[in-house]
Amino acid sequence: MRRPLVAGNWKMHGTRQSVDALLVALSQQDWPEQVELMIAPPALYIERCREALAAGPIRIGGQSCAHQAEPGALTGEISPAQLRDAGCEYVLVGHSERRTLFGESDEVVKRKFAAALACGLRPVLCVGETQAERDAGETADVIGRQLQVVLDAFGVGGLAQGVLAYEPVWAIGTGLTASPEQAQDVHAMIRARLALLDDEQARMVQIVYGGSVKADNAEALFAMPDIDGGLIGGASLNAEEFGAIARAA
Ligand code: PEP
Repeated sequence: MRRPLVAGNWKMHGTRQSVDALLVALSQQDWPEQVELMIAPPALYIERCREALAAGPIRIGGQSCAHQAEPGALTGEISPAQLRDAGCEYVLVGHSERRTLFGESDEVVKRKFAAALACGLRPVLCVGETQAERDAGETADVIGRQLQVVLDAFGVGGLAQGVLAYEPVWAIGTGLTASPEQAQDVHAMIRARLALLDDEQARMVQIVYGGSVKADNAEALFAMPDIDGGLIGGASLNAEEFGAIARAA
């Protein structure tokens, strides 16, 4: 069966001092054995995190990567090969903040997914609709479009080498969480679509939920049959809360 993943996206938070304090607090948590754990710190702190957490179960991920694996003239970018070299095992691709604030198109997201896989990273592909798209009844179409480019290139088997994160844009950082039923409906819709292409692989794809997951709503979300853990933003900056969320998975 699918192993749950609980991943923390630290976004652009932290200083050396606060990161060190968070790492100490994380290393004091009880981590459940059956759960895959990952944090994605700001790139500057990846090495620090990897070293501090090396003895424990938490793996490291990048928050984004360049759309090519080869070195090149891409000022300010970090390649998936460099993330791998620094000890990362995962990388987020297509986070809604990257799509909206940095104009990343589905095509760019696909290239990042491809480059990450080529470097031996597990890409965490983020998809999700805005409030306006949900209100217009377009949730399935939007997610279908975001997935299609990756499916065209890699099929369901390629997607299963990474992780899929359903992150409704209206729930990210807003305190508005999708109800367990709302999230389950979308996860089940995604899995059913994947199953039309490849039933066996569709059952293997980890689909995590992200959007204002907290210690007090995690258990109900993770109890849903197609929700395989969570991608946690704000709450992952608090070790006790992140630990409680992991134990709910
Ligand atoms: C995220 O950034 O992926 C996220 C889910 O954020 P938050 O948990 O703060 O809504």
